[in-house]
Amino acid sequence: MNKKGYYVNVYANKNQKENGFLKIRCQGFCTTIPTTFINQYNLTVREGNMFIQKEQFEEWFKKEIHAKEEEIRLEKERFNCFYPHIPLYWKNKDLILNNPRFYSVVTPNFFMGLAYYGGCRTITIGELLLIWEKEESFIFKCSCGGKSVCFQFGGSPLSGTEWVSKTICLVCEKIDNKGGMSSPLRVKIEARRKYTSILPLAENPVSYSELRKICMNVGENN
Ligand SMILES: [Zn+2]
Repeated sequence: MNKKGYYVNVYANKNQKENGFLKIRCQGFCTTIPTTFINQYNLTVREGNMFIQKEQFEEWFKKEIHAKEEEIRLEKERFNCFYPHIPLYWKNKDLILNNPRFYSVVTPNFFMGLAYYGGCRTITIGELLLIWEKEESFIFKCSCGGKSVCFQFGGSPLSGTEWVSKTICLVCEKIDNKGGMSSPLRVKIEARRKYTSILPLAENPVSYSELRKICMNVGENN
């Protein structure tokens, strides 16, 4: 984009042989506009591309932009309902490990995401707490000196490259990303495989907000 507008790719009917509609894409969004817009907005299609004003971009892609914003908002909500509270869960580790309805709470997003190996898997909070107790490949030292733990990782087992390794500090609660070429992806995979869910999974694990409330109440009563 420059200040005035956007280049849009016309990916269907670009020679306007058919009357009616053009399919256009820009900034990862796709939409359909009437061919009449070409004259109406005085546009020129050159080699399948045309330049449109910012106002037109925002108007024509309104639905797509809104859907994307909504998706980002929901994603943030999913993340925030669980991950930032990990230090609180850690403080209540014994309580969670000893109650199947707490232990069996499953993470909203994947824990281990492996290319070529059946995609992304979630994990229970109980397993996570056990992993963070013992498995050094999931434990880091935060810049504050506190213990930081990995709550999401992924990569390619074929190359051993780790793309992502998200961590949170149990002391200052800072969320960070420690992924990179030198991270021990294979070690993590092996370590993760040692832990299993309580089976059968508790039929009705508590909700994220219930888990949070219970842990917070324990803190207040102590
Ligand atoms: Zn810290």
